[in-house]
Amino acid sequence: MLIVMKQTATADEMDAVCERIASMGFEPHPMPGATRTAIGVTGNQGPVGAHLLKEMCGVLEVIRVSKPFKLVSRETRDRTIVEVGGKVQIGKELAVIAGPCSIESYEQASTVAHAVKAAGANIFRGGAFKPRSSPYSFQGLGKEGLEILATIREETGMPVCTEALDEENLELVAEYADIVQVGTRNMQNFSLLRKIGQLRKPVLLKRGMAATLEEFLMSAEYILSGGNYDVILCERGIRAFSTHSRNTLDLSIIPAVQTNSHLPIIADPSHGVGIREAVEPMALASVAAGADGLMIEVHHDPDAALSEGAQSLLPGQFQQLMDRVAKVEAAVERPQ
Ligand code: PEP
Ligand code: MN
Repeated sequence: MLIVMKQTATADEMDAVCERIASMGFEPHPMPGATRTAIGVTGNQGPVGAHLLKEMCGVLEVIRVSKPFKLVSRETRDRTIVEVGGKVQIGKELAVIAGPCSIESYEQASTVAHAVKAAGANIFRGGAFKPRSSPYSFQGLGKEGLEILATIREETGMPVCTEALDEENLELVAEYADIVQVGTRNMQNFSLLRKIGQLRKPVLLKRGMAATLEEFLMSAEYILSGGNYDVILCERGIRAFSTHSRNTLDLSIIPAVQTNSHLPIIADPSHGVGIREAVEPMALASVAAGADGLMIEVHHDPDAALSEGAQSLLPGQFQQLMDRVAKVEAAVERPQ
């Protein structure tokens, strides 16, 4: 259920509607938009007594949300802009989140960070807690990696994005990160998602490698239903039958998300294809398809990388990608 308020509705009228929703035993979620404010109602198992809300002052209409996802639905709001670290507005300007797969040392992170910043990236990335298929592979530097990220933010002015692998370290990661990343393997870790919903900090939710659009949006719904509305979705490739690439970057989900949700969606061609040479063409295609941003893995010495060197771009290749992305962005005129 969605309560759409009149443009002229006052703050007191909004509060009265929220109070009535709460008194009915449900949870109100005011979602201010550019042209109107809507109040999402969650917590109801069956129909809500719409007549009790319809006649209240300031209410324009009461809409039954037809989709299983409510707060992330496009019916709730036109567009969400996620502000990151007071520097980047994702959904408004193209976000380019670049950096190594893992933070390996201060020297490595600093070298890559300065290179990606010079090329035009606006957010730095790097894993401190890594989800690895093998327990014997490098698992990340943990807290030391987070401290390096904080130093890099200080040095470069770039906000930082890093993954929270589990509930145990979530609080620690959230202390350091400007964007908390939820990896593909955790997209349906519902207890982690609930905890992330309690944060008041942007979250990058990566699509599960076998998740449908509905499952993806329902996972985002877990986070919004906890009151954290700053969610950025990320397509990072799905498992298919192809063997020519690591995954299949499903660009068709970009317009599908934009039709069904107000949340911004970015693309991660690095994990999407897993092959260095294929990253740039898929990045260009992502921007042409309307992605709100890119996540790109970059390493100054990929052969020596402790994780995912094969898909990491060299700084020069990243610079070339950025130059070409700018041309595609201008050509497709992303809506502001
Ligand atoms: C990553 O961003 O380095 C990562 C592990 O991503 P994903 O969860 O998409 O595999
Ligand atoms: Mn990686």
